[in-house]
Amino acid sequence: MAIRSIEDLPIEGKRTFIRVDFNVPLSEGSISDDTRVMAALPTIRHAVARGAKVILASHLGRPKGQVVDSLRLEPVGVRLAELLEIEVIAADDCVGDGVRKLSQDMRDGQLLLLENLRFHKGETANDPDFSEKLASIADVYINDAFGTAHRSHASTVGMVKHFSEKGVGYLIRKELKFLGEALREPKRPFVAVLGGAKVSDKIGVISALLNKADSILVGGAMAYTFLAARGQKVGSSRVERDKVELAKNLMDMAKERKVRLVLPEDHVVAAGPDSSSAEVVEGDIPEGLMGLDIGPRTIEIYGKALASARTVFWNGPMGVFEKEPFSKGTFGVADALAASKAISVVGGGDSAAALRKSGLADKVSHISTGGGASLEFVEGKILPGIAALES
Ligand code: ADP
Ligand code: MG
Repeated sequence: MAIRSIEDLPIEGKRTFIRVDFNVPLSEGSISDDTRVMAALPTIRHAVARGAKVILASHLGRPKGQVVDSLRLEPVGVRLAELLEIEVIAADDCVGDGVRKLSQDMRDGQLLLLENLRFHKGETANDPDFSEKLASIADVYINDAFGTAHRSHASTVGMVKHFSEKGVGYLIRKELKFLGEALREPKRPFVAVLGGAKVSDKIGVISALLNKADSILVGGAMAYTFLAARGQKVGSSRVERDKVELAKNLMDMAKERKVRLVLPEDHVVAAGPDSSSAEVVEGDIPEGLMGLDIGPRTIEIYGKALASARTVFWNGPMGVFEKEPFSKGTFGVADALAASKAISVVGGGDSAAALRKSGLADKVSHISTGGGASLEFVEGKILPGIAALES
């Protein structure tokens, strides 16, 4: 079924509700990273330029249905006004008579920022009354908050059925293009790089990729559960003992489907992630030492596989990249990805952060703005916030 884009919707002069993701990190009342605000600008600019009456709504943090002053969207409104160089009218609530009045008085091309949606319990509860109230102030509905598209909340699902004119903004359009189209029928070879903290977080993604990818390169803590399943010694590396059997099954499945599931051959090891010194070991890891990054030989092997790929999906850092001694694997993969001509899609909160830290973020085709949502999408799950937009 078709999902329309903001470009195809009649927003001129219309009160256009845009569900954005302004869930920014705050420190001492100011925004410490405005990536998400920046990311929302193309859709907002488009709506303003076409003379829509733009109503922006987002959640911020977890106020759990109460007004929490430190989680007001005010700093976001200030930043937004700076970036767009136009006035942003800030409402002190997201529903109610005050908001209704503000929305009725708007002129074409004006911007209204509603207060944190999660100050009301009805948001996460997907409450029908709250949904109706939110919907009642607008004529057109746009969702551009991919990070919450996997949640059935009032602003992502409940309110949507009140609109016949509805669709996605530029951000979600891009997510659908890359996570959807590019990975659904990938140009081959299709190489997936999977890492991160736990196998148990990624079972769905691995299973889905076993039906799609030509190779899966494994790194991160997850690799040690696989290596343990293969009978290798992994020292005190993080192994999920209750997932070793599952790891075996996944490796069998890979063999059956002729997918190359590649595990690290060498490792950067130390007593723990806080150690300042590290050494490289090949194969088995001695007792008392922890694998905290893939080693130089593995970086080279993974780099070669990426160089010949035509599609790449990457989720999960190759090591404890937050610590310099254990960051080379992750940044090595980032380098290889940046150098490759493949369509490259990166999903996952920490992976996206690592890529930004490497300074190579603009060298990949797409970095998903959704952490959990991007993984669920790749798993083939139907995201309620996307399904609600189908017409
Ligand atoms: P994403 O958010 O991209 O999906 P995850 O949340 O699954 O990624 O994993 C990121 C975390 O995994 C990072 O904080 C990193 O320090 C940790 N990690 C990666 N490799 C290891 C390892 N070998 N041992 C312990 N932790 C690891
Ligand atoms: Mg994470």
